[in-house]
Amino acid sequence: MPDIKSLTREELEIQFKEWDEPVYRVTQLLEWLYIRRVTSWDAMSNLPKPLREKLRADFSLRTLELVRKQGSRDTTQKFLWKLNDGSFIESVLIPANPALYGEASDRHTLCISTQVGCAYGCKFCASGLEGWKRNLAPNEIVEQILAVERWHVAQPKSESLEPAENRIVNNIVVMGMGEPLANYDNLLKALKILNAPWGGGIGARKITISTSGLVPQIRKLAEEPLQFRLAISLHGATDDVRNKIMPVNKKYPLKELAAACDYYQQKKGRMIALEYILISGVNDSVEQAKPLAVLAKKLFAKVNLIPYNKVEGLLWERPPEDVCENFLNALEKQKTIATLRREKGHDIDAACGQLRLKTEKELAATR
Ligand code: SAH
Ligand code: SF4
Repeated sequence: MPDIKSLTREELEIQFKEWDEPVYRVTQLLEWLYIRRVTSWDAMSNLPKPLREKLRADFSLRTLELVRKQGSRDTTQKFLWKLNDGSFIESVLIPANPALYGEASDRHTLCISTQVGCAYGCKFCASGLEGWKRNLAPNEIVEQILAVERWHVAQPKSESLEPAENRIVNNIVVMGMGEPLANYDNLLKALKILNAPWGGGIGARKITISTSGLVPQIRKLAEEPLQFRLAISLHGATDDVRNKIMPVNKKYPLKELAAACDYYQQKKGRMIALEYILISGVNDSVEQAKPLAVLAKKLFAKVNLIPYNKVEGLLWERPPEDVCENFLNALEKQKTIATLRREKGHDIDAACGQLRLKTEKELAATR
């Protein structure tokens, strides 16, 4: 049975027409789903009962169950969700002005997952460790935003606020578990729903898709009418380094990847971002800053340097701070636009997949 949150407004209108229901009922339904974020058909009190019964008979109305949360209210928070089949996925909520600066923040970025596990097996990544289990359906991608906002509304401080005033996710980064472009159709449908004025209402320019470098899908994404931002998980500026840590590079080597990025950049006229995690002794020597700068210049891209987050059970290490700073300096000397993530306490942040792995292991131990 399809889930109601996997349908676009147009699809719902066709269904309602078949049922001889007026179009304004679709508007009412969408308000219940995306503004009030209700979790049951019975809560949709202004829809006539027979219509609710028809909806119940033909569609599921699934929600995510929060099983674990890490982090405090005003800093980065990691949510572990249980899906209907018992799988776990993660989302990470990142405030725009961390509590570090003493301000409460109402602007947040949510990092969302697109698959259970990942088939791409990058050597440093927790998400790929146990392989790929399945793609997320559009509603499971959309629900991550709604479930976080539902959780937010339920917080004591928010009690007096209307749900609509409690939209706290203004940016989305598709950088959680899974390779988003390997779940292309479901991802695009979910992002359309999250972008639409009748849905999430989040601007396409506030949505960043991160990929390990699936060349055909990058080209396909370039043809989409919506102006999503693109981030490439580069992590190595030569085939040698990339081959060592990212098996995907054997299929789509740097030259092909760069050509696809170039195409995306030309089509969209937008700057892309090259993500570069610094891993001790692997890709952090200043000599490697040179090919990276050349590539970034060629693609009009900026570089985001991210010191590696240690993953339990893996041998890779984060380089010392001065090594990271030197790498940044070397890039800047070559006139590359680059940033280095310096905040401390980000250990629960970028390395999506770790909380799930930990929970799966604990569950296995109790079985
Ligand atoms: N599969 C997609 C999106 C999910 S991974 C991709 O690879 O782009 C999101 C980002 O987190 C990627 O840049 C990935 O390389 C990075 N990442 C994975 N494990 C990490 C770790 N332990 N520390 C820091 N970044 C990590
Ligand atoms: Fe998959 Fe991205 Fe992790 Fe690579 S870095 S294993 S593509 S989630």
